Amino acid sequence: MSLRFNVINEAIKRKAVVVNVPAGRPADYFGEKVFNNEKMLKYLPKKYYDALRDTMQHGTALDLETADGVAAGMKKWAMEMGVTHYSHWFQPLTGGTAEKHDSFIEPDNIGNVIEEFTGKLLIQQEPDASSFPSGGIRNTFEARGYSAWDPTSPAFIVDDTLCIPTIFISYTGEMLDYKAPLLKAISAVNKAATQVCQYFDPKVTKVFSYLGWEQEYFLVDEALWATRPDLMLSGRTLMGHESAKNQQLEDHYFGSIPTRVAAFMKDLEYEALKLGIPVKTRHNEVAPNQFELAPVYEEVNLANDHNVLLMSVMKKVARRHYFRVLLHEKPFKGINGSGKHNNWSLGTDTGANLLSPGKTPEDKLRFITFLANVMKAVWKHNGLLKASISSATNAHRLGANEAPPAIISIFLGSQITKVLEDIEKGGTIKMDNKQSFKFDIAHIPELLIDNTDRNRTSPFAFTGNRFEFRAVGSSANCAGAMITLNTAVAEQLIDFKKQVDTKIAAGSSKEEAIMAVIKQIVTEAKAICFEGNGYSDEWKAEAVKRGLDCETSVPLIFDRLLSKDAIAMYSSTGVMTETELHARAEVELETYIKKIQIEARILGDMALNHIIPVASRYQELLLDKIDKVTRLYHASKVDKLAASDLNTVEEIAERVNTIRELIEQLVQERKIANKIDDVRQKAIAYHDKIAVLFDEIRYEIDKLELSIDNEMWPLPKYRELLFIR
Ligand code: ADP
Ligand code: MG
Repeated sequence: MSLRFNVINEAIKRKAVVVNVPAGRPADYFGEKVFNNEKMLKYLPKKYYDALRDTMQHGTALDLETADGVAAGMKKWAMEMGVTHYSHWFQPLTGGTAEKHDSFIEPDNIGNVIEEFTGKLLIQQEPDASSFPSGGIRNTFEARGYSAWDPTSPAFIVDDTLCIPTIFISYTGEMLDYKAPLLKAISAVNKAATQVCQYFDPKVTKVFSYLGWEQEYFLVDEALWATRPDLMLSGRTLMGHESAKNQQLEDHYFGSIPTRVAAFMKDLEYEALKLGIPVKTRHNEVAPNQFELAPVYEEVNLANDHNVLLMSVMKKVARRHYFRVLLHEKPFKGINGSGKHNNWSLGTDTGANLLSPGKTPEDKLRFITFLANVMKAVWKHNGLLKASISSATNAHRLGANEAPPAIISIFLGSQITKVLEDIEKGGTIKMDNKQSFKFDIAHIPELLIDNTDRNRTSPFAFTGNRFEFRAVGSSANCAGAMITLNTAVAEQLIDFKKQVDTKIAAGSSKEEAIMAVIKQIVTEAKAICFEGNGYSDEWKAEAVKRGLDCETSVPLIFDRLLSKDAIAMYSSTGVMTETELHARAEVELETYIKKIQIEARILGDMALNHIIPVASRYQELLLDKIDKVTRLYHASKVDKLAASDLNTVEEIAERVNTIRELIEQLVQERKIANKIDDVRQKAIAYHDKIAVLFDEIRYEIDKLELSIDNEMWPLPKYRELLFIR
């Protein structure tokens, strides 16, 4: 029996793994492994507690004495929790997270060890950074990089290690991670939005950016996974004929959760809650073996740390249940891919959601102000936003029939659309008296009923009190999208304020000035709004006419990172320098090349070592039969008895020849591409000459899967990967 049948047997016999989640309320263990406010109060002397809170809230610099005090408190708590090591935890541009574990133990020079963790070790470390991508910023001879504590995100415990969230920068100060620019973008949008908020409410002193992510993923049985080199090494299937049944009956979405999966989810949620990740909803997704997990939204820096952390926790927990988590955006051809909707909003320290319509005319004017400014920011930087979510892996999902197209547009819903039309036509404000005013626009209800989730085809949808950036990929670090969005909105709000102030200085009332600028914005940026079917071909044609970015080649999309507008946006807001942008673009291109290169190698290996040998064996079997038929039967009967087998033998031979030729071409093209020095040109070659061959090769292999004896086929088939659970 083939390995495939062995692993199928193993997989189907598995029972749900019992998980020990303590009885009682989640509140009893929520944040158990986090150095949160409660533990800060308990383990820090008051003066250090106050100083740390001040740093967390206002960004004031922390002196070394306080850092020492905080480190001592953290260490005491961590050691009581059985922790022996600490680690600066950061998010390099490779994706994922990096940790370097150090023991608390230090020699005391008289033959013993003491447990030590000082403020200096808490604040800064010098991990050997030479193996992290820097996009050419860091010279090879200067391998040093610094990780520096981010006190706004609490330390947490994983296994026996105290993890300290940090930023990661080069020796010369350039940012080499996702967190550092995210913190700068948060600060930029806070500053710009607070100033605009003060038109409406002088009490506002801070604006928060919020993120609620929805993580989609697939689960595959570990035994099946281990016999698929493509899944194992690239996270997606590079071959596999469609299953006769997949998602067409739509019986998986919101269906009852399979018991093994339910046990996994329960375990995962328990781990997540202990880490302070406020997970809330879980359900099946559209595709078989596809699921989703979403927490309650949080401040974007914390939310993002939580997402990155959750992705690694998921992988660990899955193994306890003999599953593997697939975070790839498109693990299976022909069925839905996985995204990570980023629900985003801005809110004030006075408790207002700036994307919620509100009750009073002032509230509504503020709402339209922020809505219009977001619209303009997304319109102006639609290409850059697309670049922020683009990758070799997400490219398979975008533009495929169930996912947002590779064009960024905004869905607003009929009520808001009507309001914007009225603004464009009229857009005046009538002052009733000094205190109160009226718009000549459609009524804006407090709750926008048609905005819940009506247009699933939109990559950037307004959903009543937030925008939902749906083009983000399931494996991505959300910071990529969140840095871009927050910075674009910050830049736009600064410009908005300048224009309004100019009008006020020229004698307009505040409300008139605001309305006049909004009217300009709406007229200028309405091309970004699209309410129709984003999957349709008509929209692609229309989007070109509207001047939206319709590029689909990932390496070319990355050009947007270095456009004049992008450089101006990042430098004027202080979020990123041109050098840092160049470095990021280079890392993106290098990552793209590597991913395609790895897939090309896997495909070559699987075709030559897994598929072709099996095809030959099956041919041999058929030829044996044909041979016997020819020997035993009269020539007049042979044709009838052997013709179809002969056809199959020939068909297989043709396909095998084609596969060999294409694999040879793949190798040659790689040789040519690898000689290209310029990273952009090289990425373009990988896109245009190499990645394009994958589907052609796959086509032949998938056809062979249909011709060759099921018992001989070595790789778990789609139906097995998708329906065994
Ligand atoms: P759906 O699946 O219909 O989009 P969910 O209930 O799964 O909705 O919620 C999506 C996410 O949006 C959750 O993380 C939720 O906390 C988050 N969310 C809700 N309101 C806001 C908001 N004002 N800002 C940011 N995120 C929000
Ligand atoms: Mg959603």
